[in-house]
Amino acid sequence: MTAQSSGAPTPLALHIARLIEETGPITVSQFMGIALGHPDHGYYMTRDPLGAKGDFITAPEVSQMFGELVGLWLADNWMRQRTDTGSPSPFHLIELGPGRGTLMADALRAMKSVPGMTDTAQIHFVETSPALRAEQEARVPDATWHDRLADVPAGPTFLIANEFFDALPVRQFVKTAQGWCERHVALAEGASTDAPRFAFALSPVPLKDESTIPQGARGAAEGSIAELSPASTAIAQEIATRITGHGGAALIIDYGHARSAAGDTLQAIRGHGFTDPLENPGEADITAHVDFEMIATAAQAGGCATFGPVEQGRFLAEIGIQARAEALARKASPSQARDIETALDRLTAPKQMGSLFKVLGLLPAGAEPPAGFTGS
Ligand code: SAH
Repeated sequence: MTAQSSGAPTPLALHIARLIEETGPITVSQFMGIALGHPDHGYYMTRDPLGAKGDFITAPEVSQMFGELVGLWLADNWMRQRTDTGSPSPFHLIELGPGRGTLMADALRAMKSVPGMTDTAQIHFVETSPALRAEQEARVPDATWHDRLADVPAGPTFLIANEFFDALPVRQFVKTAQGWCERHVALAEGASTDAPRFAFALSPVPLKDESTIPQGARGAAEGSIAELSPASTAIAQEIATRITGHGGAALIIDYGHARSAAGDTLQAIRGHGFTDPLENPGEADITAHVDFEMIATAAQAGGCATFGPVEQGRFLAEIGIQARAEALARKASPSQARDIETALDRLTAPKQMGSLFKVLGLLPAGAEPPAGFTGS
């Protein structure tokens, strides 16, 4: 497949083309990392991609109910971890990739119903984008910002990551007659560093050891693609290590699959539509589906008990979204009530976000299943 660039090349297309010319083809994960996170021209670094005018919309932007229920889930687990000296206090309330800060603002409002909780919360946002940090500050001025989770001080950790892991780079491997070969991005035939176009290529050297490939993908047929996200597993383990060491709870919510399997899930979205991931780097949101089995395994390696993943629709139903929608509708005008009904459907219906999106819970080892996961 060759990506045809329409119009003038983006600054990142020129940058990546020069990099490839100097160092040879790069991995899919390098391409994704540069396209999203380049300090000057990366997709997230330069814009607010969320909402009707942006490229995509996320659950907290669909309805306040989402952030409120996530907040109440964290509050419930904070209260359950009460000891003789009370609930963990002070504690870190951490969000990874908070977007516009909407989820946290809604969660904090809901947590105010729990005595003492918001007063002792230290809010930490892990966010690399200056454009989005400004949005977050407008909604949650009390937060402290960090580039990486590793920079957040140690302590009791109550954490939420919604649509964060899908933005982390993935490596891809293609099954060939010789074994699994890493998928690379090269300059397309006839392209130059002034007129760059990119195409997928294969590393000529297969992996020596198939154990790098997720177990669920190993038996796949020739031509199949397997994905790995070392950044995702490292962060999942880091979250778990914090919860294991100091107490806490985490919710990881994203689109993806419950079990590791072969499949090419790399995709790019621009203006609410799909586009070629290799085209116009820096202008489109490139993501991959989250492999929840890998995330859960990494969290267990960090010492946590994991729950789920369960489908978002089921999780939200179990923690009371219907009752919340009814309460909001009672105070709403007829047209607002219709909007609430539409949002409820969007968040929970299997054909909308209810089924593709999954929720994974992390708690200290030995914990009982928390709300939302009691059937799993
Ligand atoms: N959670 C928000 C936004 C999802 S978009 C919501 O649900 O609306 C992804 C978010 O992750 C953005 O805020 C983006 O800037 C941030 N992000 C992406 N890659 C990141 C990285 N490597 N480190 C920190 N933040 C990152």
